[in-house]
Amino acid sequence: MRTFDTVVIGGGPAGLAAATAAHENGAKTLLIEREARLGGILKQCIHDGFGLVRFGEKLSGPEYAERFIDAFCKADIPAMTLTFVTRIAPKENGGFHVTLVSRDGVETVEAKTLVLSTGCRERTAKQVSIHGTRPAGVFTAGTAQHLTNLLGELPTKRCVILGSGDIGLIMARRLTLEGAKVLGVYEAKPTPSGLTRNIHQCLHDYNIPLYLSHTVTRVFGDDRLTAVEIAEVDDKMQPLAGTEQILECDALILSVGLIPENELAESLGVEIDPKTKGPLCNGQLMTSVDGVFSCGNALHVNDLVDYVSESGECAGKNAALYVRKKRQEIPINAAKMLSYIVPQRLNLDADNHETVLYFRSRDILNGCTLKMRINGEEAFSKKYPFLRPPEMERLTVDFSKYPLDASSEIEFDIEVKANG
Ligand SMILES: Cc1cc2nc3c(=O)[nH]c(=O)nc-3n(C[C@H](O)[C@H](O)[C@H](O)COP(=O)(O)OP(=O)(O)OC[C@H]3O[C@@H](n4cnc5c(N)ncnc54)[C@H](O)[C@@H]3O)c2cc1C
Repeated sequence: MRTFDTVVIGGGPAGLAAATAAHENGAKTLLIEREARLGGILKQCIHDGFGLVRFGEKLSGPEYAERFIDAFCKADIPAMTLTFVTRIAPKENGGFHVTLVSRDGVETVEAKTLVLSTGCRERTAKQVSIHGTRPAGVFTAGTAQHLTNLLGELPTKRCVILGSGDIGLIMARRLTLEGAKVLGVYEAKPTPSGLTRNIHQCLHDYNIPLYLSHTVTRVFGDDRLTAVEIAEVDDKMQPLAGTEQILECDALILSVGLIPENELAESLGVEIDPKTKGPLCNGQLMTSVDGVFSCGNALHVNDLVDYVSESGECAGKNAALYVRKKRQEIPINAAKMLSYIVPQRLNLDADNHETVLYFRSRDILNGCTLKMRINGEEAFSKKYPFLRPPEMERLTVDFSKYPLDASSEIEFDIEVKANG
């Protein structure tokens, strides 16, 4: 049986960064990817806007991925593509057996530590309950992107986009550029879900209308979609009777959210945060199971790939440096004004002098202050002119400055000026 110090599962930007960092920190590393090529979702993201934070350049997805693939290949780290991880079983005295399926058959390898960088999956029509028939022509935005950008097949000539997530906004522009008519982007919430820059660059610049507080209630068509029914919704997102209208189209593109892909993590008993739908982790990105690390979109849905790579590097490095010992962890809680904070725990036995935290606000907030309280006492604060839920925020905190012990509780909250 082949044995490795660190096995990284998923060869997207998170996994590439994790494998390279693990190797650089002395671990004998293996990267496993189920697709034929490394790069993950970036392979199909041919628009630019990647790498602004990390490289100060506007790269396309494949260009960004190429930089990490080059570094990975230069380090000569073994990678198995067209290989799917089907099962992970903990070994009795630490470590894991990882079962792989590839063209060569089934193999089990041994790993001391694991990095889970399996990305996320898109919500489908089933998860947003749309009534009607089941015709062809209902695609997730990522599938439409795969067909258009990788296979060169235009999936629609006239479509409606449901949901204003970034992938939907990007596909509204992409399909328009390819000659399709995008009738509009319909969003059930009163505010857009995607980044402000994408609302401007993908919709406003191409005169594609955005309808807030609207949803698709029904689809029509036998073999292929022929029309959809649109309705306005109330503040509980329930369709308002009498507002229905029928739009003729041949496709409905869904951009209704992403869910971290964590089946392998769950099979290992990794605790999942109901807010992020990713593993609960500490500042070193180790999950609740010793030796199992998580990063990228499998950990929480990131809006910028730069932070995906950053979390990959953190998980890979810490997986390589992992020494099995008892952890002393205290909670990092997100109060009600935050939709979540990652990491959710702090390991008092680890080096926490440069802990990177990622968070999102629950609502659109202007003139606000992020406050960190330790046992109810304010310990740190940072002012923000505004915070918006689609835009993830990043913060570095030196926790070594604070007198923390096993009974300490850390809480982050946001205070808004009375007239803010
Ligand atoms: C349409 C779209 C547009 C975007 N636009 C931007 C942008 O403009 N700017 C920006 O900065 N970011 C953008 N992003 C975000 C960025 O692409 C993602 O955050 C990033 O790709 C996530 O990286 P990841 O490695 O976590 O996951 P992924 O890229 O999804 O990689 C996960 C990999 O794991 C593999 N895998 C999963 N399960 C297994 C298994 N069991 N066995 C083996 N392999 C497995 C998958 O095949 C995949 O290759 C965009 C994302 C999308 C989808």
